[in-house]
Amino acid sequence: IQQRLDLLKQNSHGSVNSLLDSYALERAQAVDSKIAKGESIGLLEGIPFGVKDVFMLQGTYTTASSTFLKQYKSAYTASAIQKLIDAGAIPIVKENCDSFGHGSSNENSIFGPVNNAKDSALVAGGSSGGSAVNVAKDFTVFSIGGDTGGSVRQPAGYNGVYGLKPTYGRISRYGLMAYASSTDCVGPLAKSVEDICIVLNTISGKDVKDQTTYESVPIDEASLSHTGGIKTVGYFKNLIDNDAMDPSIKADFMDTLDKIKAKGIEVKPLDFLDADTLVSTYYILAMAETASNLSRLDGSNYGNRISAENLIESYAVTRSENFSEESKRRIVGGNQVLSQGFSDAIYLKSLAVRDKISTDFERFFDDVDIVLSPVTPGIPPKVGDGLKDPMAMYLSDAFTVGFSLGQLPTLTVPQGTATGIQITAAKTDDERVLQFAHLLE
Ligand code: GLN
Repeated sequence: IQQRLDLLKQNSHGSVNSLLDSYALERAQAVDSKIAKGESIGLLEGIPFGVKDVFMLQGTYTTASSTFLKQYKSAYTASAIQKLIDAGAIPIVKENCDSFGHGSSNENSIFGPVNNAKDSALVAGGSSGGSAVNVAKDFTVFSIGGDTGGSVRQPAGYNGVYGLKPTYGRISRYGLMAYASSTDCVGPLAKSVEDICIVLNTISGKDVKDQTTYESVPIDEASLSHTGGIKTVGYFKNLIDNDAMDPSIKADFMDTLDKIKAKGIEVKPLDFLDADTLVSTYYILAMAETASNLSRLDGSNYGNRISAENLIESYAVTRSENFSEESKRRIVGGNQVLSQGFSDAIYLKSLAVRDKISTDFERFFDDVDIVLSPVTPGIPPKVGDGLKDPMAMYLSDAFTVGFSLGQLPTLTVPQGTATGIQITAAKTDDERVLQFAHLLE
């Protein structure tokens, strides 16, 4: 643990505060002395992990990589993180991310950009970029990220590790700073399917503090090799054939399909909504929800307050000085689509498209056991380029956001040389996703 703490300090872009050092070392010593006495220890006891800096963890700052909350100390610990601590795992670092989860490159952060683990000239991806890089570089054994529209899966793909967005509601969101509450998910990143499975089992389950959670049956690790039930795999032919697809990503994806066919599994083309519809529906709803969630940040209860002549002025100055350009774009956009005269035409229409996405998926999964897709249509941009064109950044989320809107379990697996493959199953069938990943390993 000491070695990992040292490495994290030398590569500080992935980490955002070091309040955890003495705590982590103390806990590691306690595990060491248990081992020395010949006592048995649990599977996660002494295992160091990272926490995206949007999760409350008592004794640390939770900044959401923002100026607003730079000095904000967590008042309590998030349910998922507490369960890991109770199982003996040791949080060693709070991790850099895009501010409030807003971004796909991890450049929208007061701590600076995170460099890609494979090629430091490229972005790490986002918003959980620090978490993906820490796992890829073995600074943490696993990390806990948040995925609203791809933030665990996309950086996992960019850096060559596994990253799971479980079924919505499988893991409690209590203590995860809300971005878009109807798609926010807690998700582990790790270097193997087994590790993902162990962490998922530890943090899943009903939580009275999050009424959208449900009780799930733990996944038996031994069941991961039972892949016999998977007979048919579908893929979105219309999205793959799109001109915007990077040729190397398409080639990698087609190779994976060939590999699957060679295993005797049937591969079926599916016709899904186009990328523009998926991306606009997601961003309308995500912006509306984030505008509403972030309205609580006005300097009166939390974060950095800037005083002015009167209260209204103080709210305005506090919000305009403390939010990043990207977050402001989303708050303004979100309030616009929710406002009178626009909400029927834009917001309600997006909710209707979202319903269609859910019914489409129900139909697909009557026919196929798994849906496969690339994680992104393009390769990671260079550091410095990601934020230049917001529209291009939003469109880079074309493959991840549909599964978020559908609330489906989806895992990124590192495959080939490009940005990874996503495995999706029907709602609550997270086990099948992990089984299929095992088959690809
Ligand atoms: N890139 C997407 C967005 O900016 C997803 C982010 C996330 O999942 N937190 O909204």
